Amino acid sequence: RECAEISLKDINQLASSSFPLCMRHLFGKLKEDHHLKHGGRMQLGLFLKGVGLKLEDALAFWRAEFSQKVGAERFDKEYAYSIRHNYGKEGKRTDYTPYSCQKIIMSTPSTGDHHGCPFRHFSEENLRAALNKMGVGGRAMDDIMDKVRNRHYQLACTLTFEATHAASCETGINHPNQYFVESRKIFQS
Ligand code: SF4
Repeated sequence: RECAEISLKDINQLASSSFPLCMRHLFGKLKEDHHLKHGGRMQLGLFLKGVGLKLEDALAFWRAEFSQKVGAERFDKEYAYSIRHNYGKEGKRTDYTPYSCQKIIMSTPSTGDHHGCPFRHFSEENLRAALNKMGVGGRAMDDIMDKVRNRHYQLACTLTFEATHAASCETGINHPNQYFVESRKIFQS
């Protein structure tokens, strides 16, 4: 699922065109709060690694946000390690893989957490608002909410992809990084 490198200057634009809802949400909260709890840092951090953000850019990205909240010094002391760790540069040097939809859907975010799958973990009201922000409405919205009610979260995400790309996604969505790759294929063609 690895794809070409992405650069930091394109990240805002890529987030609004090609990130799945789970990652849009984390990205938006990070920009808003300049902070994410551990579960969110892992879910978004590994996704960004998977879409091709290099370690140096990842450090710069997280540092720019976190330093506004906790200060650059504390970021370097307490948070930089775990980002290098995600890239296999610390500890056991495991190269951690981005989370699949299944793993994200099964996660159990608590209050103040922003990780998880919005199709599973948002209230109906919040989910509708988030989908609205992506430009989803009308019939597509009804179909998506129908899938959600039947607990077909990945199908709801697939329908969201189709509604926002005006294209079909025959394989269905099973991984946030796959969502990103499919989206880039459509927007770059
Ligand atoms: Fe993210 Fe997968 Fe949920 Fe879509 S179905 S929002 S890609 S976890």
